Amino acid sequence: MTTTSYLPLSAEEASRYNSRVTLLGTSGGPPWWDGSDRAGICTAITVNGSTYLIDLGEGWGPRFRQSGLGPSGFQRGLDNVKAVFITHHHSDHMVDYPNLLLLAWHNGSNGLKQPIKVLGPGDRGALPPIFAEEKREHLPEVFHPASPTPGLVESTQRLLEAYALDINDRMRDNAKQDLREIFEFQDIELPGDTGADPNGSPTPGMEPFEIFRDENVRVTAILVDHRPVFPAFAFRFDTADGSVVISGDTGVCENLVRISRGADLLLHECIDMDWVDGLMGPDSPKPDPNLMQHMLAAHTSIEQVGPQAEAAGVKTLVLTHLVPGNTPVAKWEKAQVGFSGNLVVGEDLMNFGIGTPAKREESVPTDGRLPKRTSVPAG
Ligand SMILES: [Zn+2]
Repeated sequence: MTTTSYLPLSAEEASRYNSRVTLLGTSGGPPWWDGSDRAGICTAITVNGSTYLIDLGEGWGPRFRQSGLGPSGFQRGLDNVKAVFITHHHSDHMVDYPNLLLLAWHNGSNGLKQPIKVLGPGDRGALPPIFAEEKREHLPEVFHPASPTPGLVESTQRLLEAYALDINDRMRDNAKQDLREIFEFQDIELPGDTGADPNGSPTPGMEPFEIFRDENVRVTAILVDHRPVFPAFAFRFDTADGSVVISGDTGVCENLVRISRGADLLLHECIDMDWVDGLMGPDSPKPDPNLMQHMLAAHTSIEQVGPQAEAAGVKTLVLTHLVPGNTPVAKWEKAQVGFSGNLVVGEDLMNFGIGTPAKREESVPTDGRLPKRTSVPAG
């Protein structure tokens, strides 16, 4: 029987689990939220000492250092990062992607045993419609019409080109390894028979499909409903110790239930609709029922997320990607309504253990030292 921890653990406690989850950033959306010190969305899953990152929101790097997941030592911090998964191409999920690209050289290139694999959605394939076009005084000009909706591989190429001076300098002047050898980039291709249309009606029902597998983890993806952003994915990580699902950004969506079935942990985005109401509800200074509906279709409210997790039958629901980041915890806790499992409101640097922890050593030193870890250390 699994003893997956349903409650957050200290980093020390979590390090006794072969599979663990660490929230590196729990804030959603591009705004800076007054009074909140949550970093932008980022999650780490560590299995047998290898770390997999999901989304790279603002401030993931400092949080990663604080988490203790990487080894200490000069230029070694990212040695254990094995793969990175981007759920979708909204800026709050990848604004600090360049940090990984450019700093990996200086914080991991000494110890990388293989390239870091980076996977993310492919090209959208078509521009999204202009929302409320009939009400717009000026229609926006397409930005970079030659390729206005690039996927992960092309976006990365363009980012690297922007930093060409630094990249050439480090390779020529500092004899750094070719940056292209440190990473392997991949667009997540949709299975051929999904019938998905970037500008079509709701996300079609589909089965999760495998996008990555190694000796530690099998990762599957499914389309979720975050229109007009497309493709937008949820990911499921299955390890020998249990399973974790990350919703990405989504409205209520049957595919999310499907990929979450029986998972130990579901990390789900959440939006406080009272905040939206205050911005554009009927009593706000600028009422806009259409935009309100539009936002709710792309996100999951406090009232909706519990039933969503209940339908999936998950044991623990962890709220993350909180919009706005400064809504009080007591309000997020209302997500328990309609969910019979354990609800945790995510905080940066929270840890969860998956499966069974390694046994504690029987004798605990009495001189104040921490007992020696008996599991594979995460860092
Ligand atoms: Zn988004």
